[in-house]
Amino acid sequence: MTPTRFEALPLAAPLHRVLRELHYTTPTPIQAQAIPLLLQGRDLLGCAQTGTGKTAGFALPILQALHERPRQVRPRTCRTLVLAPTRELAGQVGKSFTTYGQHIRFRQTLVYGGVGQVPQVNAMRAGVDVLVATPGRLLDLIDQRHIDLSQVEFFVLDEVDRMLDMGFLRDVKRIVAMLPARRQSLFFSATLAPNIVELAQTILRDPAHISIAPETTTAENIEQQVCFVSREAKRPLLEQLLRAQAGAKDQKLTIVFSRTKHGANKLAKSLCAAGFGADAIHGNKSQAQREKALDRFKRGLTPVLVATDVAARGVDVRAIGLVVNYDLPNEPEAYVHRIGRTARAGADGRAVSFCSEEELEYLREIEKIIRMPIPRWDDHDWHIEELAARHARGKSGVFKTPHSSHQAGRGGGRSRGRGRR
Ligand code: AMP
Repeated sequence: MTPTRFEALPLAAPLHRVLRELHYTTPTPIQAQAIPLLLQGRDLLGCAQTGTGKTAGFALPILQALHERPRQVRPRTCRTLVLAPTRELAGQVGKSFTTYGQHIRFRQTLVYGGVGQVPQVNAMRAGVDVLVATPGRLLDLIDQRHIDLSQVEFFVLDEVDRMLDMGFLRDVKRIVAMLPARRQSLFFSATLAPNIVELAQTILRDPAHISIAPETTTAENIEQQVCFVSREAKRPLLEQLLRAQAGAKDQKLTIVFSRTKHGANKLAKSLCAAGFGADAIHGNKSQAQREKALDRFKRGLTPVLVATDVAARGVDVRAIGLVVNYDLPNEPEAYVHRIGRTARAGADGRAVSFCSEEELEYLREIEKIIRMPIPRWDDHDWHIEELAARHARGKSGVFKTPHSSHQAGRGGGRSRGRGRR
C-alpha cells in the first residue's frame, strides 16, 4: 500500500510542518514509493522525469536522516553529495533542500563551474551536511584538496541520462571511486538505456527499483507550440489566447511566464485592465502576498497568474491547462520546468511559447535540449513568416522542419512532443 497523504508517511515533525506550509498534501507517485524505502536505508534506482516530484522524493528522507542523526561534520567533508549535470539543476536541487529543510538545522552549499572557486572553497572549509555539485568543478576542488568525499553517507546521482549525454561518465566514475563503501546511494534517470543500467549496477547495492511510467509523465501529455511574433504583438496575442481559454467549456487556469519582475507586474496590470482576472507573483512580493495570490489562483478567482521562473517554483496547481511563455527563458532547462506546470497527474495541457526576433537563439537552445522542434502555431493575426523561416534555416540538420499547423487552437493539428530532458 502506498500512502495517499503525507500524514501517513513517518516523516519528522519539521518536515510535516514545511509540507503543510507549502500546501503539499498528497505525495506524488514517486514520493509515495521512494520515501518509505529510503527511510529504511535502501539504495534506489529511480526512472523518472523532472516534474514528477523526485527532488522532494529524495530530499525529504535525507533531511530526515540529518535531523535524526545530527553529527559534527569534519572540515572539507560532506555527509550528503548530490551530483547534477548542470549548474541550473544543481541550483534547483539546492533550493529544494533549503525549502524542504527550512525547519531543520543543517548546512549546505553548491559547487559548480563557470564562477570563481574561492567562495565555494570557503563554504566547504568547515564541512557541510549537503553538497550539491556538478562533476567537473567538484573534481577540480577535490584535486586541489578542498573537498574530501570520505565521509559521504548519502550519494545522489540526479538526471544521469543527461549527465552521460554531456560526457560526464568518466568524471562520475572517478567520483564514485572516492566514496566510502558504506553509504546509501540513489540513482535517477529519465531513461534506462543499457549503459545507464550498467553504470547503476556499479554504484548501487541491492537497489529498489521505481519507475514512473513515461506515458503518464508530464511532458508526454503536453501540446507544445511556438508563435513567431514581434515583441509588440505579444500582448494582443496573449489576450486572444486567454479569450479562447475563458470561452472553453472546461475553463482551466493559465500561467504566463515573464522574464522580469517588472514585466510580470506590467502584464498582470494590463490584463486586468483588459478584463481578465490576473495577478502576478515574483520575488519582490512577500511570502504572504504570494500565498494570497496563489490561493486566489487555485480557487479560480484570478484564473491567470503571471509569474517569473523563481516565483513559480512552488506552484503546483493541478488544474493548470495552459502555460504561456510570454518571454522565452534564456536558460533552456527552465523551459522544461515551466511547461511541467501543466498536464500534471496525467491530464492534458498546452504550452504556447512566444518567440520574437531577439529570442530566436533561446528557441534554438530549447529545441536542442528537448531534442525536438516545437511545432509552430501560426493561425493568428500576428504571425511573422520571415522569423519562422529564419528559425527553420538556422536549425541544424538534426530536426525536420516543423510542420505548419493552420488549424486554430486546441482542436486540430495537435502535435504532441516528447519534452524529455
Ligand atoms: P521535481 O520533479 O522534483 O522538479 O518537482 C516538480 C515540482 O513539483 C516542484 O516545483 C515541486 O515544488 C512540486 N512538488 C513536488 N512534490 C509535490 C507534492 N507532493 N505536492 C505538490 N507539489 C509538489
